[in-house]
Amino acid sequence: MKTDSTVLFQKQKAKALEWRRSTAPERRARLKKLLEAVSRYEDQILEATQKDFGKPAVETVLTELLLSVHEITHAIKNVEEWMRPRSVSSGLFLLGARCEVHSDPRGVCLIIGPWNYPWQLALSPLAAALAAGNTVIMKPSELTPHCSALLQKILGEIFSEDEVAVVLGDKDTSTELLALPFDHIFFTGSTAVGKVVMQAASRHLSSVTLELGGKSPAIVDETADLAWAAERLLWGKWVNGGQTCVAPDTLFVHRSVWPNLQDEIRKAGARFAQRTNEDLSQIISPRHFERLKQMSKQSAGWKLAVQVGPDSTSDNERRWPVQFFELENAGLASYTSLAREEIFGPLMATVIYDDLSMVIDRLGREDKPLALYLFSKDKRTQERILRETTSGGLVINDVLVHLANPELPFGGVGTSGQGHYHGHFGFRAFSHEKAVLKQGPIKFAARFFQPPYSAAKLQWARRLLKI
Ligand code: NAD
Repeated sequence: MKTDSTVLFQKQKAKALEWRRSTAPERRARLKKLLEAVSRYEDQILEATQKDFGKPAVETVLTELLLSVHEITHAIKNVEEWMRPRSVSSGLFLLGARCEVHSDPRGVCLIIGPWNYPWQLALSPLAAALAAGNTVIMKPSELTPHCSALLQKILGEIFSEDEVAVVLGDKDTSTELLALPFDHIFFTGSTAVGKVVMQAASRHLSSVTLELGGKSPAIVDETADLAWAAERLLWGKWVNGGQTCVAPDTLFVHRSVWPNLQDEIRKAGARFAQRTNEDLSQIISPRHFERLKQMSKQSAGWKLAVQVGPDSTSDNERRWPVQFFELENAGLASYTSLAREEIFGPLMATVIYDDLSMVIDRLGREDKPLALYLFSKDKRTQERILRETTSGGLVINDVLVHLANPELPFGGVGTSGQGHYHGHFGFRAFSHEKAVLKQGPIKFAARFFQPPYSAAKLQWARRLLKI
């Protein structure tokens, strides 16, 4: 494998130098090929995703294919504009010079993907990398073997291995790939592995985009539309079996509305959970299933408040209900592990609050989340959360949907990631922005900086400080 990956890398290096010159029509043609192949393989994609973790076809279309197709189409439409050099002002000292920002392809890029959205999290960064003119080696997750093998087949049919190659394997394969001097590494996965990736990248000073995990809190205040908040929070936990990086994870709810919110969750649950075996994704593996079991059992200090979905959890089926746990001894001081670890499943840790300031204070001291959700009709509260908290993204009166807009950057901050992508942000993540200055015919300003450094020049130079 080591030699194979090195040979593959060298082949891509040669191709990347050739692709550095690629024009907008050439890049568009690559993206169109990708779009056409995704559409041609739609049925097989739905089947593979079903086989890997029982994901309902509707969810695969809406949360995987639609978003990927959207990203690819958006790139096809805009790549020419994105590639165009951007003129910037030259300022007084560079009078007569022309200053521009050019986007160079980074070169050979590595994309390492997680298992939870095996299509969207492979195809969206790939679209950005191709739009930016790079070659790509991709390492999808070993936990979705059907999807990963199909991805390899699809991309193998439309690209030669020196253009885009899918390498299958587990963390050992990632480790071998990470030893190579990639021009950029785009990693989506856990915060713990993100640190490993960043450390590996430092050996070659490869640039990185890290799309990581963590806890995404939701706040429901006393003015919220409770019926709406209930169904959106429930959906955020239901979709993909709650195994979504931006799934709401800890719910802070105002004491006065918690009883009504529970009723509304039950009502929404009655609508959602009519055919749980067909409509609810499985937990990805027995190991992950066991982890959820332990988490729900060991949540001392928490009581189960609302449950939606299957009554019994069988190891064969691996379908887990959405469960809202409530912190019994209310008060943020008795915060326990269910509210500390990333849950990455359909459990919700609910903390009742009386004073929003305590929630804001708590959020300020915790790791910065990938997403923060606020359900409130009060404009002042909305403004306060906007100004007094930080997170990868903030969504007011909804969950998850911010990632569907390619005009918005998607990414984390601090332990939830660094860098961002989607749309133009993805193109920029996979480009090097090169400063280009073309000197003009007026040389006076440049000459002023050269010796001899006379007293008069010093006087003039000091005057410039005041401009
Ligand atoms: P993971 O970090 O375990 O694995 C991700 C990828 O890294 C896989 O391809 C895996 O083979 C590889 N890998 C695992 N261990 C490695 C190691 N030691 N060295 C090098 N590579 C290694 O993550 P996962 O379980 O596949 O996905 C779930 C995590 O990903 C959650 O934390 C979730 O929040 C996060 N996630 C983040 C986003 C985002 O956009 N920010 C999206 C999806 C998932």
